[in-house]
Amino acid sequence: MRAARVALKKKEVTLFGKKRYTTLPQKKRKANMTAWSYSSINTFKQCPKKYYHLKVAKDVKDTGSQAMLYGNQVHKAAENFIKEGTPIPKKFEYMNPIVNSLNAIEGDKHCELRFGVAYDGNEHTPTTFFAKDVWWRGIADLIIVDGEKAFLIDYKTGKNAKYADTAQLDLLAAATFTHFPEVNHIKSALAYVVSNEFIKKDHTRELQSLYYATFDEPLEALAAAEEHNVWNAISSPLCGWCPVTSCEHHRKR
Ligand code: SF4
Repeated sequence: MRAARVALKKKEVTLFGKKRYTTLPQKKRKANMTAWSYSSINTFKQCPKKYYHLKVAKDVKDTGSQAMLYGNQVHKAAENFIKEGTPIPKKFEYMNPIVNSLNAIEGDKHCELRFGVAYDGNEHTPTTFFAKDVWWRGIADLIIVDGEKAFLIDYKTGKNAKYADTAQLDLLAAATFTHFPEVNHIKSALAYVVSNEFIKKDHTRELQSLYYATFDEPLEALAAAEEHNVWNAISSPLCGWCPVTSCEHHRKR
């Protein structure tokens, strides 16, 4: 593993009326890259070295924090409630207002829907989560499809909606348009089940390719890192939570 910096060639594009810079080398990226997800690209953005150990060398495992385990239980409780009508366990009863309001929405409900999207450099097409041709994969906590409209929900167990990142909703909305050709409009939300807040967003089919482009810049950096096998360490306060204990920047919390 080398430690030199990779220089990226950039090109100007216009997204949502604003100039942005990206290379968008879609065909090259498709040929060279492993499948990505919202969480994997964020790991890369946080620290390429951490990404390398978790996703490339796979010599380190992230066993998950208590917060992650708690989040998984909350997701399961919501899924069981919407899918099977199983009452929400007492310890999570604070989420009843949110799941009741979601359950009341008309339409076909899909819980924990695993999306896979293939990409040939021109077109995004549906595939399965673990397919050989999968380019992006993600899990939608809840999708309700009602004709050409859909609702898309991602549950959050964090207490502070102030720092909500809605980029995940853009990706899931793009995948929903790919997998449900009848859907033209999506209302999405990060549902903060503890504070009973919704951070909402609207999506239209016309902007689908821009939603897929949300992470073009870090994906280009990832493609370059893979091509050159260069994985720079980026130290931050998060190093205290990093599972790469062999890293010189790792420290005890
Ligand atoms: S300890 Fe910090 S710098 Fe080292 S791999 Fe982890 S996140 Fe990166």
